[in-house]
Amino acid sequence: MLARETTPSAIVRYLDQYVIGQEEAKKVLAVAVYSHYRKIATFGHDQEAMAKSNVLLVGPSGTGKTLLCDTLSRMLKVPFVSADATSLAQTRYVNEEIEAALQRLVDKADGSIERAQQGIIFIDEIDKLKVSDGQSRAISGESVQHALLKIMEGAPVKLKDQHYIDTRNILFICGGAFVGLENIMARTQSFGFIATSADDNQNILDRLNQRVKPTDLFEFGLIPEFTGRLPVIARLHDLSKAMLVSIISVPKNSIYRQYVEIFRGEGVDLQVAPRVFEQIAEIAIEYKTGARSLRGIFEELITPILYVVPDHPEIGKVEISSLFENARLVGRK
Ligand code: ADP
Repeated sequence: MLARETTPSAIVRYLDQYVIGQEEAKKVLAVAVYSHYRKIATFGHDQEAMAKSNVLLVGPSGTGKTLLCDTLSRMLKVPFVSADATSLAQTRYVNEEIEAALQRLVDKADGSIERAQQGIIFIDEIDKLKVSDGQSRAISGESVQHALLKIMEGAPVKLKDQHYIDTRNILFICGGAFVGLENIMARTQSFGFIATSADDNQNILDRLNQRVKPTDLFEFGLIPEFTGRLPVIARLHDLSKAMLVSIISVPKNSIYRQYVEIFRGEGVDLQVAPRVFEQIAEIAIEYKTGARSLRGIFEELITPILYVVPDHPEIGKVEISSLFENARLVGRK
């Protein structure tokens, strides 16, 4: 499954086509995935030899955690599903929910249990398992972690059709925003240091801060057994305006490119000025949902135009120069 030429750097190059920025997370993830599939190839089902390194992705929402996992799985041609730890905590039937996720993995593998057994499962919102005041949960965050631990360590799980799926070689990637982690990390650093200037102070702190300790995660309700199963931690960062602009227009399957293709299908040339991408990025920053709102804002802009264009074959070109001005519809020559 992992071809010889699929080295960690080749994985990063592939990810670069679809995911903007997040260089550190790409590298950490590439190495983790590479060694995971190499271990499977080398040791097969030899449980003893195979100590699995599941991954924890820490970063604000909408910055590419799910996209990274999804893109990886497409590159490796392994099935991929994602699930939310919070919704697992809201049901009384956590094991049934986990079974359902595994069933979806089998479905993604076109029914092949063998392929599903080498798939990737992304479990998001792992930082929200702690019950805060006024919240009620059907089951405790701890039980969710114990249920997840069981499958992360590897267990045969019975599916609807009485078949068993063995989870031992499935790669589990957990994700969460872990809001406030920076402060916890700064507080829990055990190194003392004397800073001679504010700059020094910041530099030292930055360096120390880069390393997340498993104990830092306890404050989010994670239990030691669980953090112990996530030895690889990669961090994702907030997306800058420039990155958001790139996300709209640069990736192979970016929103802009998709619409350029749709308009081309109508024989129409769609031209959007760079200023528009910046305006969209500025609004997205205000929404504070990372890159998540970009598509919605872009589609709001395009919808009225796409409503009109197919009825008017005389239109040959659409020019959009600002989010706050009407588009210019140009006739065919
Ligand atoms: P989360 O970190 O919450 O899992 P997602 O990966 O689901 O965020 O991101 C939501 C959407 O935003 C993606 O489908 C993608 O379109 C876009 N996006 C987010 N981060 C990036 C990124 N770094 N590069 C390209 N697109 C991104």
